[in-house]
Amino acid sequence: MQKQAHQHLKTLNEALDQLAKCTLPVDTRGALLTARQRLQQFERSLEDDSGEQDSLAAVYTVAQSLGATLDLDEVLNNVMDAVIELMGAERGFLMLIEGGTDQLSLRAARNIAQETLDADDMEVSRTVIQSVVAGGEGVVTTDAQTDPRFAAQESVVFYNLRSVLCAPLKVRGRIIGVIYVDNRAKSGIFGKDDLELLSVFAAQAAVAIENARLYTQTDQALAARVKELETLSQIDHDLAARLDFEHVLGLAREWATRGTGGLESWVFLSGEDVNTLMLADGPRTGITPPHARGVAPHLGKPHPQVLSSPDGGNVHLIASLSQAGKTMGALVISHEKGFSEESIQFIQRLASRAATSIANNRLYQAVEQANRAKSQFLAIVTHELRIPLTSIKGYTDLILGGSAGAEVTELQEQFLGVIRKNVNRMADLIADLADISRIERGILKLDVEDISLLKCLQETLDSLRHKIEERNQTLVVKKADIPPVETDPKRVIQILTNLVSNAWKYTPDGGMITISVIEHQDTVRINVQDTGIGISPGDQAKLFSQFFRSEDQAVRDQNGWGLGLSVTKQLVEMLGGEIGFESQLGEGSTFWFTLPVAVSPNGRANANG
Ligand code: ADP
Repeated sequence: MQKQAHQHLKTLNEALDQLAKCTLPVDTRGALLTARQRLQQFERSLEDDSGEQDSLAAVYTVAQSLGATLDLDEVLNNVMDAVIELMGAERGFLMLIEGGTDQLSLRAARNIAQETLDADDMEVSRTVIQSVVAGGEGVVTTDAQTDPRFAAQESVVFYNLRSVLCAPLKVRGRIIGVIYVDNRAKSGIFGKDDLELLSVFAAQAAVAIENARLYTQTDQALAARVKELETLSQIDHDLAARLDFEHVLGLAREWATRGTGGLESWVFLSGEDVNTLMLADGPRTGITPPHARGVAPHLGKPHPQVLSSPDGGNVHLIASLSQAGKTMGALVISHEKGFSEESIQFIQRLASRAATSIANNRLYQAVEQANRAKSQFLAIVTHELRIPLTSIKGYTDLILGGSAGAEVTELQEQFLGVIRKNVNRMADLIADLADISRIERGILKLDVEDISLLKCLQETLDSLRHKIEERNQTLVVKKADIPPVETDPKRVIQILTNLVSNAWKYTPDGGMITISVIEHQDTVRINVQDTGIGISPGDQAKLFSQFFRSEDQAVRDQNGWGLGLSVTKQLVEMLGGEIGFESQLGEGSTFWFTLPVAVSPNGRANANG
């Protein structure tokens, strides 16, 4: 547009020049002269406009480039460079109002140092800045000495006279800072146009600065949150790593002190009665812990409570340790100064985790205690029952064998048979209970030797064969060439007897029991397969737990206590093996277990003996 206007003006000027060469009446020449003057004025105004438009275009280009980064420092430095260049200034700086305060702080400067900024010769600049912040409008002073607003300043007289330009950085009407530039008078005087230009630029720069500032804040908040989540996950891991009460209390204190930058932390725990609060963990020397009486009133509060000392001493943060609505104590942290909002929130989260862990530990300890009591009880009961049972069994056998003198009638023999059968059942139960008690107390002894597994199997089947035959069940044994195992033969026979007895008990008459022995990786694996009643998926989940028996009538028709599989599993595991099963209701089950192959095998021939 402008280029075209200049072209037209040039043509017009040339035409007027041509006209001026002609002989013209005085009036016409006067009009021509006026026209030429107007044309020149118009040409000058066109040039002024073009300068202004060039500056605005530069402002626009620079402001656009500010949005290219969200790094606050980078944005501030880019703004500063652009301002110095656009305004042709000697020096300048940018100040921002710190969030939450009304304090301005220097964030970027060109050709000016912080020290200079604090010096007396900046007195005028400070006054200018204050008036910009207070009035919300930009200030230009071309001659500070004569400017009534600043002339009173001594420095104006004593130091180099400067032309100053200062514009507020405003976002949505709120001042977030100022941009300041100045020149020595001889280097260039700023005018109103310069202030307008700076204000246009400042408006765009302020948006870029605010965006970068918000982004930085969000970024920092996110980083802090991620760090806290990492810490909490580490705390969860540490707390769950050991079921040890002292350890949990120590960890909670350690994290509490570390996470808040505190001096010391303590854990108070209450007994059955919440009011009986006692110091459970934490040093009693050095920094004095608060008195339990001072902590007690803050128990059960949903948020941690900050307690300042009336005599200006350490500040305490008290977080209630509560879980499922039950308060069990408090975590108390001491700090010289006080606690930030982040620290308080962190302690709230830590206290909730610590409370869960303490509750879990207490439950675990209670279960442990109950288990110990149960094992103790089993040990006494089995010992006390075994003695009378042995004598009942002994005398029954004596009478049956005719060693008691009088002849035993057929009816008496039948009755004595029932007594012996039931005594045997009782003896089996006592043997299982005694094993459980020994395993749980960790005193079950294993007599390990190099054994032939096939010999153990033979021995087991010899004792059960007649029962299997009684029920017309088919017994199939598939033996492979297997390496020797180093284990306790008595316990292996016990395991085999339990599994084969179950196959026999839970398989109807005429069914089939197949036992196979194979080498499987570094183990020998024994499968006991039956074509029996099978186990429902619901029952499968409960298998191996003590006293579990299926509700199935076919199971209830058989003798049993629901202890065999539980003892068997523990024995297999003690021998270093694994146990498992597959079962289909109504079709049959396969129970299997493995035993590790001996480290120094003595030869297969021996093993298969
Ligand atoms: P018990 O046989 O004395 O009941 P166990 O601990 O040996 O006790 O077995 C627990 C339960 O597992 C049995 O009561 C039965 O319900 C189920 N079970 C075990 N072995 C088999 C099997 N081979 N077939 C079907 N059910 C079985």
